[in-house]
Amino acid sequence: MSRVLIKKQVSPTPYKEYLNPKHVYLPLIINGDTDITALAKKEDMVEEGELVAKSKGNWRVFINASIGGKVTGFSEKYYLNNQKLKCLVIENDFVDQIGEKSEKKLTDYTKEQALKKMQDMGIVGLSGSGFPTAVKYDNQLDTLIVNAVESDPDASNDAYLILNKCEEILEITDALVEIFGMKEAIIAVKKTDVELKKHLNYYLGTYIKLKLAEVPNTYTAGWEKELVQRVKKINCKTFPTNKKIVVNGVATMYALYEALKYNQALTSRIVTFSGPMLKENANVLVKIGTPVSEIIEFLGGYLEGDKMLIANGPLMGNSIASDDLVVSSDLTSVRVVPAIAESIPKVCMRCGECVNACPVKLSPVLINEATENFEQFNPDRCIGCGLCSYICPSQINLRKKVEQAKGEIK
Ligand code: SF4
Ligand code: SF4
Repeated sequence: MSRVLIKKQVSPTPYKEYLNPKHVYLPLIINGDTDITALAKKEDMVEEGELVAKSKGNWRVFINASIGGKVTGFSEKYYLNNQKLKCLVIENDFVDQIGEKSEKKLTDYTKEQALKKMQDMGIVGLSGSGFPTAVKYDNQLDTLIVNAVESDPDASNDAYLILNKCEEILEITDALVEIFGMKEAIIAVKKTDVELKKHLNYYLGTYIKLKLAEVPNTYTAGWEKELVQRVKKINCKTFPTNKKIVVNGVATMYALYEALKYNQALTSRIVTFSGPMLKENANVLVKIGTPVSEIIEFLGGYLEGDKMLIANGPLMGNSIASDDLVVSSDLTSVRVVPAIAESIPKVCMRCGECVNACPVKLSPVLINEATENFEQFNPDRCIGCGLCSYICPSQINLRKKVEQAKGEIK
């Protein structure tokens, strides 16, 4: 297992809300799948939370309108993979359609009802995966692991939720254990996150099936398979659900709480905005589909100078060509840093650090140098963690090279 320590923000940045954009641009993508059918068409009036698009696979995954208003058509916006993507555009009518929220007792749900609710409310993994949550729960399960390890070093939105919505997160965790007949739930947190541990321990007292597990402050400790190994001592080569384990991040747990308790579709999420080129850093609750440029303006704008945006952290994320990026369900953070000038050619020093850092024991240096027969280096095992690029003293973008090699052997 990797031992690389990543410096993380010590305390969460201030919290703000930006919930009334003039337009939203809903990216038509679910867990990398862009084969999405739009159900709403131009000139349709839609309500907040209404189903407007769905995927075509066996498990239909829904995209719900994040604001109410008029569908004005389709447009292309940047997605966090740095490519333009088709989006459904809704113009806000600024009418509050949610009103008073009706409440449902969580333990009244049957397994089938809970699965349907997760699907209807469009709940997907909010830690960067976008994986449909109902698909994970449609299995025989014994253990729920709540992943509070927040891998993205730029993000502090999970920390915000633990400190401010702890009771809600524990309530839904306990309810899911009951609804799905599981034996236990384990909340995994970094040993060094003292404040979070203290907070969780304070509220955990009354829940007999919930417990805390500490993991080291190493970057890949939050990677699903490594987390299962550390917390349950189970070697998990495929999906954790094959070992009767379901893993959800903190933000996903909170979205599940809102969906099951208040019938609230996934229409918003918290994104961490940070970096030295922003006038203000904050965790911002925003509607899915809001243009990032608008949120940055709301935070006071940029500082003077050339800048670049990094979406979802410096290790697993991407630098984005433009702030014409929109908030998607899998966007955890946006960091704005000074632009790096194209520098001198990056030469490998044969230090071997990339090999030492790789959690799945690949040789990024060899993959970087190869021009053919990539399969001998097993690039398909890469988990995209970005540690090789992060650690390389020559700043070679090894992760990109390994991803390209992976593409070559498909
Ligand atoms: S090769 Fe892949 S798995 Fe290994 S360190 Fe690089 S990005 Fe991570
Ligand atoms: S870390 Fe960078 S410099 Fe060191 S061996 Fe790997 S590619 Fe070469």
